[in-house]
Amino acid sequence: MQPAKPVPKDDKQAHVCPWCGASNTDYVQRGYTGPTDESDQYFTCNSCHKVTYQLISRTTRQTRLGRYRVGGIFKDSKHQTKYRITRMLKVGFDEYLLHLKPIPGDDDSDSA
Ligand SMILES: [Zn+2]
Repeated sequence: MQPAKPVPKDDKQAHVCPWCGASNTDYVQRGYTGPTDESDQYFTCNSCHKVTYQLISRTTRQTRLGRYRVGGIFKDSKHQTKYRITRMLKVGFDEYLLHLKPIPGDDDSDSA
């Protein structure tokens, strides 16, 4: 009944794919140990194989070039998905963490 893999205790919610609704997903947590580790936090769907980012790491320059801001839109052209940027945190000297909320569907009506 229970999945064998460990689940972090602050992570009670199942990761349901926002793009197709499947809960058969693999979660990848951001690594904090060094620059070679995974810098983004996301889960991949085993049903539609899309990636859902929760947290992405960008340099200050990338953040500026992408004009990322809280409330703005982040587009993942590779997976053709869109996110609302809900939070931005500056970490370290030259890194921003962007918290993303998936926007399923293709509704551009409220974008600035
Ligand atoms: Zn899916």
